[in-house]
Amino acid sequence: MNFLEERILKDGVVKPGNVLKVDSFLNHQMDVDLLDEIGREFHRRFADCPINKILTIEASGIAIAYAAARAFGVPLLFAKKSKSINIDGEMYTAEVESFTHKNKNQIIVSKRFLTPADHVLIVDDFLANGCALMGLISIVQAAGATVEGLGIAIEKGFQNGGRIIRNLGYRLESLAIVDAMDDATGAITFRAQ
Ligand code: 5GP
Repeated sequence: MNFLEERILKDGVVKPGNVLKVDSFLNHQMDVDLLDEIGREFHRRFADCPINKILTIEASGIAIAYAAARAFGVPLLFAKKSKSINIDGEMYTAEVESFTHKNKNQIIVSKRFLTPADHVLIVDDFLANGCALMGLISIVQAAGATVEGLGIAIEKGFQNGGRIIRNLGYRLESLAIVDAMDDATGAITFRAQ
């Protein structure tokens, strides 16, 4: 069991509706030593890739992306969520449905910060149905940049996102893959990696 799986077992809480709460250490209160370790682990796993930018989506992806950007020594770029449909031509946009809030957001990235010269590692805290990652992938493609890989802290392997993204041929590394969880007992089962 790796450091993140151990922490999830210690402090994660299984909620109804297939939600795993990790807000005591990952996406509300944050354990910065754990975040640093996550950043270093992404760097180790993608050491062979010519990554020059980390891309994530606000808000909870930003801390993980910061740790990754530190480890790689490259800039961090985050997609902003925007309610406005009046986006000028200076932005790449994608539509993303939120797993946790069930609403749709337009996400935007300025064309100034993503170009065909970029080799991007996309990171996020969770992977569920893959909507957030697919939106980020489409923005990288629209910019003519290269998706070198995707790094996720916690993948819920019983939902579809991981399968969809791997089937598209992307290199996806999830530090913890939850294959089953039970809100009645609190039990969490990880995929052996
Ligand atoms: P997806 O787009 O893959 O369906 O969902 C990913 C996004 O939803 C992540 O950015 C994350 O913020 C949120 N999310 C999905 N599942 C969970 C969960 O079980 N717990 C928490 N805390 N956030 C989740």
